[in-house]
Amino acid sequence: MSKINTALGPISADQMGITLMHEHMVLAYPGWDLDPLCQHFEPGELAAICAEALGEVKKYGVKTVVDASPWDLWRNIELDKIVAEKTGLNIICATGLYYEAEGMPAYIKFRSQLMDITAELYESFMHELTVGIGKTGVKAGVIKVATSHGSITPYEEKVLKAAAKAQKETGVPITTHTQQGTMGPEQAALLIGEGVKPEKIIIGHMCGNASLEYQMSVIDKGVYVGFDRWGIDYLFPDNLRRATLIGLLGLGFADRIVLSQDCSARTLGRPLVMPDFVQALVANWSYTHIFKDIIPQLKQAGVTNAQIGQMLVGNPKRIFGG
Ligand SMILES: [Zn+2]
Repeated sequence: MSKINTALGPISADQMGITLMHEHMVLAYPGWDLDPLCQHFEPGELAAICAEALGEVKKYGVKTVVDASPWDLWRNIELDKIVAEKTGLNIICATGLYYEAEGMPAYIKFRSQLMDITAELYESFMHELTVGIGKTGVKAGVIKVATSHGSITPYEEKVLKAAAKAQKETGVPITTHTQQGTMGPEQAALLIGEGVKPEKIIIGHMCGNASLEYQMSVIDKGVYVGFDRWGIDYLFPDNLRRATLIGLLGLGFADRIVLSQDCSARTLGRPLVMPDFVQALVANWSYTHIFKDIIPQLKQAGVTNAQIGQMLVGNPKRIFGG
């Protein structure tokens, strides 16, 4: 069984345990630090904030967290390392890129006007997967890709193809961002068409769609679906996520689903001032929401410990370990 690279070095799949498959340390859009009024943190302050918030998951037995931040969402490997040291959690870091409208750095935009960037993206992903990320000595353990709402732009297609090639050579999983689950079947088809084994693909944010027919159109391709935005009722209500999950579990798909919250300890930039109705719609959003609120509700509905264990332990181990 192959080794899995984390912020503090390789681990075996047996060491993963309960795993949150899609979280972040911070949420930071490209350009946040250009705002002269952005919030600054003293050295170590941000790591302490992240470690305190994420460390809460240990009360529920979590051992491993995937930091799904790609290059362009201020992925910060030094932060991952310090948080891993402070908490004792395994943190799996990503290489890859976010979707065009909220990611695509001007640097890549410029280069893509002059050449086909697929080959150089592949080279860069490979470097981070096999040599390391910057001077951190940390190798990426997962590849993150993303697509737009209702479309895969030509740029995003290049990123997916570069990721597919790097996946085939390294064997690491690909985890995706969809906009509320749109383009799930298309992402799966594109990646599988490029030669990626379906069992190495997690189509993310599929819990933004309550249609069982739609869910099965993705699951039928052999990939995993991420129910990974619990608590973000602002985007889609938890009660519909729950109903959809219970439906899929009733159909016997516990072995195709992973759970997470897409949470961050902080949003970088100016402090966010949200209207009351928005605050109410994200009031439950935390790293521990699944354990505190969702799992008890699932159990009340008849979901078994074995099904929950399959989604939180068995599937992550199989996806990463093979
Ligand atoms: Zn995310």
